[in-house]
Amino acid sequence: MHEASLMASALELACAHAREAGASRVQRVRLRVGELSGVVPEALEFAFAALTTSGPAQGAVLEIEAVPAVYWCADCQGEFDAHAATPECPRCGVWSHRLKHGLELELSTLEVA
Ligand SMILES: [Zn+2]
Repeated sequence: MHEASLMASALELACAHAREAGASRVQRVRLRVGELSGVVPEALEFAFAALTTSGPAQGAVLEIEAVPAVYWCADCQGEFDAHAATPECPRCGVWSHRLKHGLELELSTLEVA
């Protein structure tokens, strides 16, 4: 399961950060997940719950921040929100293939104690 290994690496990173900060516990993990990252938030939550039954992240809270797909239009020099199927600029109708956001999968904030 893709999400399980992603979540395991995210938690490893979170625990490493906690150790570096001299903390013993991870309390809250916030992830930025792009709309087009291909990751299913529910599966991440499921994996998180399974991976935090013991260890330094036991009982930690997971927050998922959904990042919408945002394209850049070179014609009008502006950004616009769009879904994968129709990356068309609403101002000039040109199709853009320059995705600015939507593929993120990263640790955004972390609370340790
Ligand atoms: Zn445009």
